[in-house]
Amino acid sequence: MRPRAPIPVIAIQFFPFANVNNTIRLREGRLLVRLSDVLEGAPESVLRSIAHILLAKMYRKPIDRGYSTRYRKYISSHDISSKAHLLRQMRGRKRIDTPRGRVYDLNQIFDDLNARYFFGLLARPHLTWSQNHARNSLGHYDPAHNAIVVSRVFDHPHVPLYAVEYIVYHEMLHLKHPVKLRGSRRCVHSAEFQAEEKLFPQLEQAKLFLRRL
Ligand SMILES: [Zn+2]
Repeated sequence: MRPRAPIPVIAIQFFPFANVNNTIRLREGRLLVRLSDVLEGAPESVLRSIAHILLAKMYRKPIDRGYSTRYRKYISSHDISSKAHLLRQMRGRKRIDTPRGRVYDLNQIFDDLNARYFFGLLARPHLTWSQNHARNSLGHYDPAHNAIVVSRVFDHPHVPLYAVEYIVYHEMLHLKHPVKLRGSRRCVHSAEFQAEEKLFPQLEQAKLFLRRL
């Protein structure tokens, strides 16, 4: 891929990611590769495909269709997905506690938003206030546990309902628009996602409030 460049030192390991995931980084001239341990024992053609995909990503080269198809087929095959699912269950001993906070009930907020903006069509995932009071993360959707987690700082009487609603609404959009792969790049907030986010009536107020917090 870079014929005139010297080959960097390469360090590869299988890593217990929560999901099937593979990463490549260049640090101080060393190429660090982590492959999901779900792929341990994968056939050589699959490992070769991953190597191609990761190197293409690293050096911004086009990915050969054949390799991406080979890899995707293997990942979506029954055996590998059940292995991944099992590992997730074993690792994911995340405490899911109550959706009912001191001020706001996340289930109630979800049901209300679902009726107002999604024709009641979304299945309710686990909803929970986070254990800690971290401000850097408003909330997130965790597909492995099918859970929406909202930072507990927002369960407070000084926080207006629309701000909490906006956080939950955003995560509901993640439920509705799963992360897409565009080439090898993850597209988290797609154009459709962003367009639909704008339908939330107090979007600007909510963003302003959260920014000031
Ligand atoms: Zn998001």
